[in-house]
Amino acid sequence: MASTLDPIAPPRTCPACSSDRLGSAPIARFRGCVDCGHVWAPPTEVDNTMFEAEDYVEWRTASGAQQRRQARIAADRLRWVAGSLPASGRSLELGCSTGEVVQALAERSWEAYGVDLSAAAVAAGAARHPRARLAVGTGPTDAGFPADGYDLLCAFHVVEHLPDLDAFAGLARSALVPRGLLYLRLPNWDSWSRRALGSHWPDLVPEHLHHFSPSSMTRWLDANGFEVVRLATRGDAREWVGGLRRRLTRTDTSAGACRPLGPRAHVALGVSQRVGRPWFRLEERYDRGSELLVAARLR
Ligand SMILES: [Zn+2]
Repeated sequence: MASTLDPIAPPRTCPACSSDRLGSAPIARFRGCVDCGHVWAPPTEVDNTMFEAEDYVEWRTASGAQQRRQARIAADRLRWVAGSLPASGRSLELGCSTGEVVQALAERSWEAYGVDLSAAAVAAGAARHPRARLAVGTGPTDAGFPADGYDLLCAFHVVEHLPDLDAFAGLARSALVPRGLLYLRLPNWDSWSRRALGSHWPDLVPEHLHHFSPSSMTRWLDANGFEVVRLATRGDAREWVGGLRRRLTRTDTSAGACRPLGPRAHVALGVSQRVGRPWFRLEERYDRGSELLVAARLR
């Protein structure tokens, strides 16, 4: 993949909290905010062709075990916000891939929509999940879906890819009903895995332009009219295993990592996840897990 990190217009204020007290970040190409701790790369023309490639999707549909795994992840993701959701409503997932979360909501009588850049993912998802309304696009209107009236807007591992955070916040505000729920999951810059693995942290890839921590996420949401109702981190073996692998293979941060894992890697991850459980619980207790989860209501 071509590197796309040439700066085009470096911002003079923090994209998360608008502070003008900027500094450098521990990784050379990033800037950091002294006030909220947000870390970001200069805005770029982003190359999203990797998400449009067929092999990005193939692994999700390769086997029954893989499909069951995706369904399990979707159920876990919804369980985390179940207490904050109405019994039914209208939902939209941005970056829905093969649509397991959309399908899970549709099965609960939600009017559930999902958009993704990958035509292959949308086609595979539509074939397997007949109740999910899936289409290619970056937002509801370019997919031909209703522009607004959503009770839930989900974006999992999407926000860190976006060059323009303000545009995303604006879309979320206009798509959601008042008191509607925005639900995001993304890498946690304040994680112990990031601190320990340094430049080998697998989330340091050219396509990740924004790195949020619990504090910068809260500031960004607050500045954009959202009130955080739940925030947590999740300890995960993936970053540790991926980081150690990068270290052993001396892979640097210019290599893309949003790549599918093979079946053997999934088995290794499953074992690491079980063995490392006490450690991951400790990470979660101190908000230092590798994944940041947040649910916020539009004021
Ligand atoms: Zn800031």
